[in-house]
Amino acid sequence: MAAGDGEPALQSKSVCVVGGGVAGLAAARELRREGHAVTVMEQSGDVGGQWLYDPLTDGEDPLGAAAPVRVPSSIYACLRLISPREAMGFSDFQFLPREGAGRDPRRFPAHRELHCYLRDFCDAFGLMDVVRLNTRVLHVAPATTATRQWTVRSVRLLGSTEDDESREKEEVFDAVVVANGHHSQPMLPTDIQGMGEWTRRQLHSHSYRTPEPFRGEAVVVAGCGDSGKDIALDLCRVAREVHLAASSEATAATPDVSRMLANHGDVLRLHTRIRRLHADGRVEFADGSSVVADTVIYCTGYTYSFPFLDTGGAVTVDSDGYVVGPLFEHVFPPSLSFVGVVRKVLIPWFFEVQARWVAQVLSGRKTLPAEEEMVRSVEEHLRAREAAGVPWKHTHNIGGIDPQKMYELGEKYSDLAPVEEWKKELVMSSIASKMADVETFRDRADDSENVRKGVQAWLDLKLAAQPRAKSMSTVADDVEADARAMPHA
Ligand SMILES: Cc1cc2nc3c(=O)[nH]c(=O)nc-3n(C[C@H](O)[C@H](O)[C@H](O)COP(=O)(O)OP(=O)(O)OC[C@H]3O[C@@H](n4cnc5c(N)ncnc54)[C@H](O)[C@@H]3O)c2cc1C
Repeated sequence: MAAGDGEPALQSKSVCVVGGGVAGLAAARELRREGHAVTVMEQSGDVGGQWLYDPLTDGEDPLGAAAPVRVPSSIYACLRLISPREAMGFSDFQFLPREGAGRDPRRFPAHRELHCYLRDFCDAFGLMDVVRLNTRVLHVAPATTATRQWTVRSVRLLGSTEDDESREKEEVFDAVVVANGHHSQPMLPTDIQGMGEWTRRQLHSHSYRTPEPFRGEAVVVAGCGDSGKDIALDLCRVAREVHLAASSEATAATPDVSRMLANHGDVLRLHTRIRRLHADGRVEFADGSSVVADTVIYCTGYTYSFPFLDTGGAVTVDSDGYVVGPLFEHVFPPSLSFVGVVRKVLIPWFFEVQARWVAQVLSGRKTLPAEEEMVRSVEEHLRAREAAGVPWKHTHNIGGIDPQKMYELGEKYSDLAPVEEWKKELVMSSIASKMADVETFRDRADDSENVRKGVQAWLDLKLAAQPRAKSMSTVADDVEADARAMPHA
């Protein structure tokens, strides 16, 4: 990788990536491609983040009230993707159906298929060489005031010796990429009276795996988002009663909820939001009605949480847990960066965009605006969102609020090929089908002609240019050759 005539020499940095989920893997690949020395620290025993299903839960703290939770993944057993696989591949390593035991060729496969694909991606690009598994990052702080380096303290988690200090390590890196996700730390409602005193079972969806423990029970599911609907439907198979408490009229009055009620009216009921939990087991709703329940499951989303990050106030999370900042374009201050803070984006594509940008800023191939300009840009973003009436909690929601903006940012900050029009159309039609019928949308076959042609050409890739898994040594050789070709500053 050589800089062209007249271009500044590119720099190779030592970079620590916190987290080995989709965002961390995208970061690792782009950083290596740009010639940086990467170390990914992942607390789990494998990469994949959310997609590494864990049958265990934060059992002793089913609400996930203590931060940080111990189990990163919030995936439940019945989960199938809500985004079509055609649009869920890395730009040069598509999420094509693969033959083999345990593989799931469907457009919206079960969660395990995405994990298999992420492992395939790691193999194809030799990424496991730079991943330290079972390694939790405990503390990230500026190394000195004079440099922009960071000290990272981590601990090896093996067996039950996780507080053994000898397993702790402190290292200095030129830069840190934070990619620890935001679907692990539960966000609990703050407006329900009696939660603390209720003696019956309460859990957050983070700790829900299968419906079996709720067989024969009356269960209240709080929250009508994707997880709330999935879990309510899962419970309908075994529970005596399922009561879905919608947080607002807007989330309740949707065609998919109406259809769920029509299909499962013998078990499923819809309610307004929960107002109070009573000592006698009653759950009271905002309209004054109540039911007696055995369990309440809060499907109320997740909060941003960076318990290891010590920036001296430079980057903070707001008191509601909705916003991280100030982050220029949801990614930077310079030597610290965040991949994956954004919400409702096409992944891994948008994470690749961010990761590539970070890698190129660190090498000097791209420059950032002056600090005051970046801060001004963040303030403008917040003001514009407020003026447009977008709730504060959607500050980092790009694709769900303004999908066109997501594609524009991709083109502005990276040289990745733009997302093909048929993929955009497929994503939009999948969302529309989901909103019409959340139970059947994954198995519909009503693509437009445009999408059908796109899918056919995409499937033909299988026979053509998809990179094959390389041996670790071949990848290491490639990376070394890249690094040798790069004029280091
Ligand atoms: C139930 C559910 C369903 C979803 N369905 C979809 C879907 O269908 N389509 C879609 O596009 N998205 C979906 N998502 C969103 C999903 O989170 C993203 O797809 C993606 O996994 C986010 O990747 P990430 O790398 O940012 O975070 P994560 O996958 O959460 O990965 C973060 C990683 O960081 C590690 N980590 C955290 N803290 C530390 C630390 N201190 N030290 C070391 N490692 C650490 C964690 O162990 C984890 O491996 C779903 C999420 C949930 C919860």
